[in-house]
Amino acid sequence: MNIAVFPGSFDPLTKGHESIVRRALPIFDEIVIGIGYNSNKHYFFSQERREYFIKNTFADEKKVKVARYSGLTVNYCKEIGARYILRGLRTSADYEFERAIAQMNKAMNPDVETVFLVSDPALSHISSTIVRDILLYQGDITPFVPAGVTV
Ligand code: ADP
Repeated sequence: MNIAVFPGSFDPLTKGHESIVRRALPIFDEIVIGIGYNSNKHYFFSQERREYFIKNTFADEKKVKVARYSGLTVNYCKEIGARYILRGLRTSADYEFERAIAQMNKAMNPDVETVFLVSDPALSHISSTIVRDILLYQGDITPFVPAGVTV
């Protein structure tokens, strides 16, 4: 079975994330959206809320699972038998950042391949960071997040 882990903070899930997962569905048997935990990071939404938003968004999709994990993504992949890491690329800055992580992950576990999908041009401006800024100033985030993200 081809299992992919889509790792991230998802603070919160955006239409950009949703698009990557839906476009990757024909490629994999199962996609595990992995909510990573980093003790150095301060999150806007609790892990429970972030998980709820994702479950709500993909409730109709049997191939999509949600899980929380801590530690290295490659170790988590090994633990659940996933041979692929899925990531999205928006910009050249994303590419440089992602390239280094993918190569480090490959060095740590050569059995795990990182698969990149280039962002839909209509969604490449969307980031969780900007969505959080909009929320901070009571703006409307509905154009940028799936309907399942009910804040
Ligand atoms: P992280 O905390 O690891 O940066 P994010 O939750 O911000 O995680 O993003 C997870 C993944 O989703 C990353 O691969 C990121 O590049 C991708 N991503 C985020 N926003 C978009 C978007 N608008 N279009 C395509 N991919 C995106």
